Amino acid sequence: MDLKEALASVVGPEHVDPAGDRHLQDVTENPPGQAEFVVRPNTADELRAIVVLAHERALAVTPVVAGYNVAGIAIPRQGGIVLDLTRMDHIVELDRDAMYVVVEPGVTFGQLKAFLDVEAPELVYTYPFAPPFTSVMANALLDGLNNLSMPHGAMGKWINGVEAVLADGEVVRTGSGAVVGRWFSRAPVPDLSGLFVSTQGTTGIVTKIALQLQPKPAHRQRWLALGEDLASAYGAMRALARTHSFDDCGLMTWPAAKQLFGATRDLRKADDEPFAYLMIDITGASAAELDARLELGKEILGANGIDQRFDADEVARLVPALAKMAELPTTLDFLLDFPGGGLTWVGSYGPGDQWVSGAQRGMDLLVEHGFPPFLVSRPMDGGHYFVLRFVANFDKADLGEVERVRTVMGKLADAVLDHQYVPYKPSSDAARRILDRAHPGFVRMLDRVRDAVDPDRRMNPGRW
Ligand SMILES: Cc1cc2nc3c(=O)[nH]c(=O)nc-3n(C[C@H](O)[C@H](O)[C@H](O)COP(=O)(O)OP(=O)(O)OC[C@H]3O[C@@H](n4cnc5c(N)ncnc54)[C@H](O)[C@@H]3O)c2cc1C
Repeated sequence: MDLKEALASVVGPEHVDPAGDRHLQDVTENPPGQAEFVVRPNTADELRAIVVLAHERALAVTPVVAGYNVAGIAIPRQGGIVLDLTRMDHIVELDRDAMYVVVEPGVTFGQLKAFLDVEAPELVYTYPFAPPFTSVMANALLDGLNNLSMPHGAMGKWINGVEAVLADGEVVRTGSGAVVGRWFSRAPVPDLSGLFVSTQGTTGIVTKIALQLQPKPAHRQRWLALGEDLASAYGAMRALARTHSFDDCGLMTWPAAKQLFGATRDLRKADDEPFAYLMIDITGASAAELDARLELGKEILGANGIDQRFDADEVARLVPALAKMAELPTTLDFLLDFPGGGLTWVGSYGPGDQWVSGAQRGMDLLVEHGFPPFLVSRPMDGGHYFVLRFVANFDKADLGEVERVRTVMGKLADAVLDHQYVPYKPSSDAARRILDRAHPGFVRMLDRVRDAVDPDRRMNPGRW
């Protein structure tokens, strides 16, 4: 049977197509890839049958949901099959008592939010600034950063366990759900869930993931505070995170705000405009708890020289563009619809004591290469580490600009590593720079793991 017929016999002919632009390129500067067919399975059994078929025919397999990772890491690099997982969009289980949800790869942030609002209004998940149509699972497997990552850490930490298909078709399970059928925790079995985190699909394709939920506090307020320099913004973020009393403190420098308010080209900061915008989320189980936290927040901001603070909901009523950020998930069209359509970044996690110098170096690099100093950040995991993410919009049709963006992203990856920050969701280029500096034992261990689960390197080849 030829390949197309064989694939169609598993998923039906209407779910097999020649690979086209949607799957061969993305919004970034990474070059287009190639693949023979895109296949859209509906169930874990169908997915497994396709992986077995690919294994028998020695074909590469690249999984993808929305393809909005912003690193080129779902672009197929060695032909073969693209597994489009958007049809596997079932919310498999909700455990309100143990506070977790089990989802398939195609479940989106918009879908999960709508589901929880109805089925478990006392619980919440945590949302990125990624569009509502992107995958909850992919974001967790990529160790992403969401709006409760300041108290609770990167998204890999929210994973209680997975079910996955290895390169040869073997189905495996990790976490407590591997033993007792309920996914309340990763502990206390050997922690194999990490084998699937930040590996970009190279260790297997996850078909189900158990993710923690959090209680939803009854009272909430959001501030927009304005910072005049990096040091005061860092001081405020660090102090807020260490109290464990605040849900989020997201920072964006002025080019982000300018773009949010509608500017595109020729971004310039006027003297009377703030340098950085801090979005601070404050919640409380009771009105008294919220009030106490608001008081603490005022003290912390004042002690760090941040005197301009507004109720973000009131500002959003006056400035509708800001309303976009009020409720997540949301589509940041100012990033996605930028003229020319290109969007890319280097995002990284690293130590607080290197934050100010790392932020300055990255912004200088952007400016030196003709891009505005667009930085996004937040403290992570109670202030144990911080984010440095440098963002560039560009014109995909302007080859000179694409080359410039490639150069600066490479330099940014090196610059963050120089400051002991490690790129997350790394592009192939950034992953190479990470491995060049990594302890040889880490590199060998990664190789040995891949030798064990995918000796022929057919799972999302070209990564790591
Ligand atoms: C404007 C914008 C803002 C964003 N903001 C944030 C943010 O604040 N925080 C954040 O963390 N991210 C952010 N993102 C990045 C990204 O969109 C999210 O992390 C998102 O959840 C990824 O989902 P996706 O469907 O696009 O994944 P895809 O790009 O389809 O897949 C991501 C990776 O996972 C692999 N993969 C997919 N499915 C599986 C599977 N079942 N098993 C194994 N591997 C798999 C793919 O091969 C790929 O390498 C943003 C993106 C955009 C465009």
